[in-house]
Amino acid sequence: MSVVYKDAGMNLSDNSAKSGYETLNAIMQEAPAMSFRCRDIGMDCSFEAHGSTAPELMRKFIDHAESAHTMQVLSADVILNVNKAIIRTRFNEGRE
Ligand SMILES: [Zn+2]
Repeated sequence: MSVVYKDAGMNLSDNSAKSGYETLNAIMQEAPAMSFRCRDIGMDCSFEAHGSTAPELMRKFIDHAESAHTMQVLSADVILNVNKAIIRTRFNEGRE
């Protein structure tokens, strides 16, 4: 009788632990750690970049700025503002 009870309890916790783990895994793999929006630096533009590192976001923004805003060279001010605007999500705080 105690075995049946134990098995039932284990099945229940196994299921919830598994789905919880898979959900967390999906978040860690798919959710971007950082994001940047053109609006964050005062641009009237809906561009939004996601990435796991600041340099990755900066690169995406530069590619976008060259084509969409014809900014071939970014000024130090723009780069500084982009860096400030890059936001870490709470999920990834303290991972590094
Ligand atoms: Zn833009």
